[in-house]
Amino acid sequence: MIERTLVLLKPDAVSRGLMGRIIQRFEDAGLKIVGAKMVWIDKEFAKKHYFDVAERRGEKVLAALLNMITEGPVLAMVIEGVFAVEVVRKIVGGTEPKTAVPGTIRGDFAHHSYAYTDSKGIAIKNLVHASGKKEEADYEIKLWFKDNELHSYKTVHEIHTY
Ligand code: GDP
Ligand code: MG
Repeated sequence: MIERTLVLLKPDAVSRGLMGRIIQRFEDAGLKIVGAKMVWIDKEFAKKHYFDVAERRGEKVLAALLNMITEGPVLAMVIEGVFAVEVVRKIVGGTEPKTAVPGTIRGDFAHHSYAYTDSKGIAIKNLVHASGKKEEADYEIKLWFKDNELHSYKTVHEIHTY
């Protein structure tokens, strides 16, 4: 039940100075950051990360997304915890900030809608990427991190409660 999931603080989160406040939300929930680094990726790498977006969301969304994710550095993290994949997605909120519920990162820190961003030909700026399911997480963690960039240690929650 202990899972690892990939989280990216996208260029909009980095440039808006929201890294600390977003990371805080994961730490507040007792989740553990087991890897972290800032990376400025190119489109080749971005295509590997978003390999299934064209078939799920269409070529136009993929093209906009490749521009957005390469416009500045991202903070890449691997987050560990009980059912971490599902829990992190819950904390992040729905894909469209307009309808993402308050209390979630996307609902609290952004408000863009699909209608607006599609009309402008840009990707929806929703601050965070988080793996959608376990298999996606396994693929993405391997893509972004080497084994020796991931760390095992105990948080105070583990020391006190297990
Ligand atoms: P996520 O798992 O919630 O991030 O959503 P997806 O994996 O389906 O899509 C990847 C990213 O593409 C999203 O986080 C958005 O930044 C962007 N995106 C997805 N769908 C749309 C869309 O319909 N319009 C626009 N403009 N951007 C989209
Ligand atoms: Mg996704």
